[in-house]
Amino acid sequence: ILRFDLLDEIDREYQFQIRRLLSHDDLTGLLSSRSFFSELRREAARAKAEKRPFCVLMMDIDHFKKVNDTYGHLTGSKTLEEIGLCITENLRSGDVAARFGGEEFAAFLLDAELAQAIVAAERIRAEIENYQFSIIRQGKPSEKHRVTISIGVASFPSDSSDPIELVEMADSALYRAKREGRNRVCAYRDLSADEANKPLPARQD
Ligand code: GH3
Ligand code: MG
Ligand code: MG
Repeated sequence: ILRFDLLDEIDREYQFQIRRLLSHDDLTGLLSSRSFFSELRREAARAKAEKRPFCVLMMDIDHFKKVNDTYGHLTGSKTLEEIGLCITENLRSGDVAARFGGEEFAAFLLDAELAQAIVAAERIRAEIENYQFSIIRQGKPSEKHRVTISIGVASFPSDSSDPIELVEMADSALYRAKREGRNRVCAYRDLSADEANKPLPARQD
């Protein structure tokens, strides 16, 4: 009986780890893009039913190739891991972040109007700009380097209520942020005077 009990437990742990490997990026622990889209679809349906806003962020590290070229791929990987932390530390419980392979990240922010999402995105951008990223080099464990990130924002339901379209809109805002000089946050559409002047209700934790 003990033997079967033990096997059961090992089996459960195995299933759990396999599921985790499939749904998460193993470098950063964030969701994989596939799981991100399924969570996003679920959230869009819930937000529609409950008439609540939310926002999608697309993020891409600036000149990341230079990090690999200058410091090597080990430092590149470590940087991706640290970027993952900078992103999750600035999200609230219930918000979801993902790594889209390579050096692109995505997130959605629950109960966030566009103005609130821009504030949150700006917080992530500033944290990364100020963060001292590790350099993995033998004998020089304390060396640091810097990177920046560009972020695009799209909002549900005012920009679109289709999850795929929201990601595309956030992506096109991201490319505008790149074109306009990187290390910045761009929204798919500009805030209206009304939205910009309205006092920002704090988002619930
Ligand atoms: P931009 O500011 O335009 O985004 O410039 P960039 O160099 O970040 O963008 P580009 O798309 O030209 O290059 C992305 C580089 O990111 C290519 C590759 O060197 C690096 N990269 C992508 N995925 C990974 C990864 O998983 N690990 C590491 N170490 N590097 C990666
Ligand atoms: Mg890229
Ligand atoms: Mg990049």
